[in-house]
Amino acid sequence: MRENLLGPKQGQAVAVETTYSPHVLLRPLPLELVDLADGFWEPRRRINHEVTLPSQYRHLEDTGRLDNFRRASGKIGGEYQGIYFNDSDVYKWLEALAWTLAEGADPELERMVDAAIAEVEDAQRADGYLNTYFTFESAAERWTDFDLHEMYCAGHLFQAAVAHFRATGSERLLDVATRFADHICDTFGPEEGKRHAVDGHEEVEMALVELFRVTGERKYLEGARYFVDARGYGMLGRPYGQHEPSYSQDHEPLRDQSEVVGHAVRALYLYSGAADVFAETGEPALARALERLWRNLTTRRMYVSGGLGSRYEGEAFGRDFELPNERAYTETCAAIASVMWNWRMLALGGEASYADLIEHTLYNAVLPGLSLDGQHYFYQNPLADDGSHRRQPWFGCACCPPNVARFLASLPGYFYGASEGAVWVHLYAEGAATVGLDGNRTVRLRQRTRYPWDGRVEVDVEAEGEFALMLRVPAWCEEGVEIDVNGESVDAGISPGSYANIRRTWRSGDTINLHLPMPVRRVECHPYVAENTGRVALMRGPLLYCVEQADNHDVELRDLVLNDKEPTVRFEPDLLGGVAILQAEARSAPPAAGWEDRLYRTVHPRERDTQTYSTRVTLVPYYTWANREPGAMRVWLRNG
Ligand SMILES: [Zn+2]
Repeated sequence: MRENLLGPKQGQAVAVETTYSPHVLLRPLPLELVDLADGFWEPRRRINHEVTLPSQYRHLEDTGRLDNFRRASGKIGGEYQGIYFNDSDVYKWLEALAWTLAEGADPELERMVDAAIAEVEDAQRADGYLNTYFTFESAAERWTDFDLHEMYCAGHLFQAAVAHFRATGSERLLDVATRFADHICDTFGPEEGKRHAVDGHEEVEMALVELFRVTGERKYLEGARYFVDARGYGMLGRPYGQHEPSYSQDHEPLRDQSEVVGHAVRALYLYSGAADVFAETGEPALARALERLWRNLTTRRMYVSGGLGSRYEGEAFGRDFELPNERAYTETCAAIASVMWNWRMLALGGEASYADLIEHTLYNAVLPGLSLDGQHYFYQNPLADDGSHRRQPWFGCACCPPNVARFLASLPGYFYGASEGAVWVHLYAEGAATVGLDGNRTVRLRQRTRYPWDGRVEVDVEAEGEFALMLRVPAWCEEGVEIDVNGESVDAGISPGSYANIRRTWRSGDTINLHLPMPVRRVECHPYVAENTGRVALMRGPLLYCVEQADNHDVELRDLVLNDKEPTVRFEPDLLGGVAILQAEARSAPPAAGWEDRLYRTVHPRERDTQTYSTRVTLVPYYTWANREPGAMRVWLRNG
């Protein structure tokens, strides 16, 4: 064990380690101290472990992604296979396996991890460089084209190594990572004699901060700060690359930016890395820029699902209010990146709005990216479709599948937190957590709930002494929130979109009852999003709903107009893995006679009449769509 390894050792698998970060309020929980034993997440995480990870291993072999490492180490010949950043898929998959191993031993997974790490180790160059696309310099020369993702791949290697070390205590992959990080930090930087460059695809920034947190090696933090600082001066993009500098957020220094632009995943990884740098340095200008960007994102450029990225062209954010439904890009990776960024922002000051968006994005933008069988994926997540957009078993550009896998594997780490004298509950699900408090106390919490189907949460406390329990009251829960402790109502300054602060002297056996009413809500959109004018989306609790043809065979979804009557809610245990469906009264209002062969006409008041008939529609949670026979789907429905 090397001398300078800081922070939690093996058995302390935290997804983002902010415990020792000076400018952070919240400390994370190791994911092995959180037990999700619920009917919603536990089955998904089991499928991730038992189905998704082994099937992704087969794809990595079948598509030559692992062979690229064998080729780089001289074990096999042949050409490089696939896209130039395919190494990153192997690293993300390794990260997913590492987090999964934190839950407990699994000899089959360990064998896969060790075999893959051996291939990665063997492919590393003597000077620490590691990228299988650039191994033979006749094909491409390393560090000459920064649009080719060398540092992006490096970042995913670092994150996999950090996860593997935290989950298992093994330094094997960490040794590979630090050798490469040394090479990068010795090659690039502001100092004289070093090269001046940033990567086209951000990722290495947050990875270097985490590597600093594991090793205590300050030059990794300095490297991360340099890569955040150096972006924004037009080193990337035309005339050097295919895109404008804004595609890689290189158009303006981050501290001056106030609009989220360019490739969505790149942008969100940059913001995550910058939040990590802030956590260590506390520079106010950085935090102010991130808050400005977050406001622009959430008030102008985000889908109702929490999905991000409005344009296929450049996989990019659109302009303000540019949010097309059928042509939504909303890459699954962007949703994951949004959770990663919001998690870092939440840690800084415990602001509930970040936790609200984590929950919302998790259910409605990350989850739709994965099929219920755990083997099919969406890259784009439209909010309306004619039935032709289907999940695929894999992609040539396969960033999303292993990203979902690594995220689900680390999910328990996002449920709780701690600060001085306080335990925080960010997310709700049946299960238990063990929280270390103030270095000398242990608090055990057990949640009993059917969340997200029911908003009643019972929390059993096993602890002695005074501390605050911070329970998130979601912003969607606009009325009727109730909290009692041992049957006595508490006034904890409850307001939606904040944490209820219950400070008292706790005794083991104390029980909190939290009631978050879940009426069906009709959500409307800012009128400047023309496509959604006169329409509503239905939500219940944290879940966004949609209509899908599979439940509504005899109706053209585009003709549906919801009535004012309150939809009914019914839990269907055998449908789509068990879901609460909504049933709403509606009418079908097809275009009036005369529209058959024209697209436009002059308005004459009497021609507005249309034949309508009453119908009833069934809505299912949006994350479940496209898991049955192909058919149309819509989130936004006419109303009134
Ligand atoms: Zn992706």
